[in-house]
Amino acid sequence: MSILSRPEFHDEQAAYDYVEARVWPHGATCPKCGERERVGKMGGKSTRIGTYKCYKCRKPFTVKVGTIFESSHVPMHIWLQAIYLMCASKKGISSNQLHRTLGVTLKTAWFMSHRIREAMRSDDLAGFGSGGGVVEVDETFIGNDRTKKPKHTKKGRGYAHKHKLLTLVDRNTGRAKSMVVDDLKAKTLVPILKENIAKEAVVYTDEAGQYRFLGKDFAGHDFTRHGAGVYVRGDVHTNTIEGYFSIFKRGMKGTYQHCAKKHLHRYAAEFEFRYNNRIAHGADDRVRADIALNGIVGKRVLYRDSLGA
Ligand SMILES: [Zn+2]
Repeated sequence: MSILSRPEFHDEQAAYDYVEARVWPHGATCPKCGERERVGKMGGKSTRIGTYKCYKCRKPFTVKVGTIFESSHVPMHIWLQAIYLMCASKKGISSNQLHRTLGVTLKTAWFMSHRIREAMRSDDLAGFGSGGGVVEVDETFIGNDRTKKPKHTKKGRGYAHKHKLLTLVDRNTGRAKSMVVDDLKAKTLVPILKENIAKEAVVYTDEAGQYRFLGKDFAGHDFTRHGAGVYVRGDVHTNTIEGYFSIFKRGMKGTYQHCAKKHLHRYAAEFEFRYNNRIAHGADDRVRADIALNGIVGKRVLYRDSLGA
């Protein structure tokens, strides 16, 4: 059976049931006052699917309140299709493709995909390398940062005008974490590393100068000399991150093409989400979509924040 023939992908009531079971594991809950007992499902022909009434504060509500679906008129089963497609596409799926596949306008597709990226965003603050594990750290350059280089100036050399992404991979958990950074100076990067990596971790980087003094902040620091063509020395390398960057770059180039700096962290969160919830971690496409769905609460992006490319 095709996964897309599941009822929640084409039946609106089934879609609501699917989302409600995840957002309200203890039954319908009033988002305003938290009431669970004196809550009733509203019926009748003129009532919208998924409407409940709280008899304590006397307000109607749906499961959309307080989630990425709030104030969206897109049917719930279309939202579930969009989430599934984004979770199942290794290199991402463009707003244009979503627009054509789902039959929503391009503007709506753009808006939906940014909200879904918000749902994918992890709030996990667990320190990388806790317990003394190895953490790889590396950075990459991508696209053009228009805030640094106006559109009509000549194509520059070097990397100053490119977006910069700093990535960590915890070798024990296999998890990645990326941050958009303004520059690659030690005074920018080191505080970020100290905030995200446990003191007892061993950190592997390349020979870049900004990492030179990491040994005093962590249990250990070692590096390979990429400049001298040495990428691996024993288990000292950053090849796990290189693999991560290659998926990210192929996706960003092939699928998303242009990306403004203010949105880059959202795309980074999307690739990070799929990487951290990959098959090797026991998450198939379906499980990954369910995990994204667990992230819909409290992640509402304002429309004006998601506009502008
Ligand atoms: Zn209430």
